[in-house]
Amino acid sequence: MRLFMFRSLTLRRRSRAVPNPLRKAERRVDVIHMPRQAAQKISFLLLLAFFLTAKATGEPDFLGANALRDRAEIHSAFGRWFEQFRAQASPSELHDFLWSMPKGADLHLHITGSIFPEWWLEFALASKAQGYEYFTRVRVNNCGWLAAGELGEAAALTTTVTEPLYFETIDGARLETLSECVRGEFKSLLALNGAEKAAWLNSIRLDRPGEGRDEFFEKHWQRLGDLTANPHIVAEGLARNALAFAEEGLHYFEPQILAEGYRRPDGQLMPIEASVSIIVDRMNEPDVVNSGIQFRFQQAILRFLPNAEAQLARAFEIVSSQPSWVAVNMVGREDNDKGHPRRFLAPIRALRREYPGVALSIHGGEVDEPNSHVRDTLLLGATRIGHAVNLISDEELLQSMRFGPYLVEINLISNLKLEYVQTLDAHPFPEYLRLGVPVALSTDDRGMWDTNITDEFFVAVHHFNLTWDELSALSVASLSHAFLPETTKYEVIARFQAALDDFALEVMAQGVPNPSNRFQKRRAFICENYQVCGNFN
Ligand SMILES: [Zn+2]
Repeated sequence: MRLFMFRSLTLRRRSRAVPNPLRKAERRVDVIHMPRQAAQKISFLLLLAFFLTAKATGEPDFLGANALRDRAEIHSAFGRWFEQFRAQASPSELHDFLWSMPKGADLHLHITGSIFPEWWLEFALASKAQGYEYFTRVRVNNCGWLAAGELGEAAALTTTVTEPLYFETIDGARLETLSECVRGEFKSLLALNGAEKAAWLNSIRLDRPGEGRDEFFEKHWQRLGDLTANPHIVAEGLARNALAFAEEGLHYFEPQILAEGYRRPDGQLMPIEASVSIIVDRMNEPDVVNSGIQFRFQQAILRFLPNAEAQLARAFEIVSSQPSWVAVNMVGREDNDKGHPRRFLAPIRALRREYPGVALSIHGGEVDEPNSHVRDTLLLGATRIGHAVNLISDEELLQSMRFGPYLVEINLISNLKLEYVQTLDAHPFPEYLRLGVPVALSTDDRGMWDTNITDEFFVAVHHFNLTWDELSALSVASLSHAFLPETTKYEVIARFQAALDDFALEVMAQGVPNPSNRFQKRRAFICENYQVCGNFN
């Protein structure tokens, strides 16, 4: 009887909820506010009452077979609704839908790559309160660059580049170590004029044709310089990301964030206890806690450095001793052969003898040419692979990765921006997805390409026609592969699925929510490449 009632309600609602195939110009507003008729509201209210009554009366099998069937009913009814919606929605309407849609996890993001330029500037200026001041290179005085090399360790940042880099940003302590001539190249961030501020912000955005991976790997991070060594800035960037992701309906994120290596205002290295407590305390403040988003951290190492093995050992130690850090990652451009995966096979095997339970998510296959990096990375013990763009060319491995257990963290916009694919249409993601290789969408370094997690879902649906089944499976896969204790993971997945059901019922009853200030929230990448901003609203 219950199921029958539900089914009949579903069918009635479906027959009315489907948008009329009006001409595009006529339906822009109507689709968003789709089924507003009284009868539909009554249907929805009856359905809601039915669920609430069942919950309130503690019906014995509410969480049993009937509940599962109810969920399946909602899912398949909404799947049909979504097919109709996707076929007729404008890009802006699709973006609205995806913005409001509950999302699983972002498992692949670097926190210092996820802070937008305007946030960096805001946090840098605000960090004066903790005694920091930052200086950026606004001119080149031709001081004779070798002179900086004579400064030794203290000038490590400025000696890693082969020529003076405009808008490289250093802290006050480092400025003091420079010769007077070199010091004259720098200006306090507090004193920048409007044009200099705009140029500084642009210098850490990957937004011009031809900038590509060299600009990203060899200049953007170097320009950020000492800002990435301020734990207050990094903690605030983390919290701001948590709040922004929560606003997009994300339930969990697992950023790569260093537990140590931060500097005090006097330039001295901060002990790990101090930096960890700055980061963890910030995430325990009410704004983040109340947002409901869950999180854990990964400790990343730079794989091509001469001391990468020592970093790796330290990362295992950190993950084993810091409760919020749950996994080790290995980062750095893979076309630098010095960081190839097999270099770490013996060291990781040695570390596994000592440390139990250290999870590994490792970048692999983020390269142009076919090679064995994904295969070798799995041999290292990774259960998740970052990117795996060239998995498509390892046919035997691809075949063996169908239906799990390893997950590929897909970064569509990152791969486009760094030119690992020439167009999104050429990305191997749909092949992985539809072969049954577990995949999830993530943002990687969204601060540098000016995107959010909604944009990743948007380009996936826009270019590859994802179904509702596929969209929700992406989120479930991401949560299922989170490095969380099993009981916590089940709780997060249950919360996500309940939110997804509520969303489906709400949209079928009332239409796609109309996010407030949505055009201000849409970021540059999506505005510049798709018709979702400006005159296309
Ligand atoms: Zn990455």
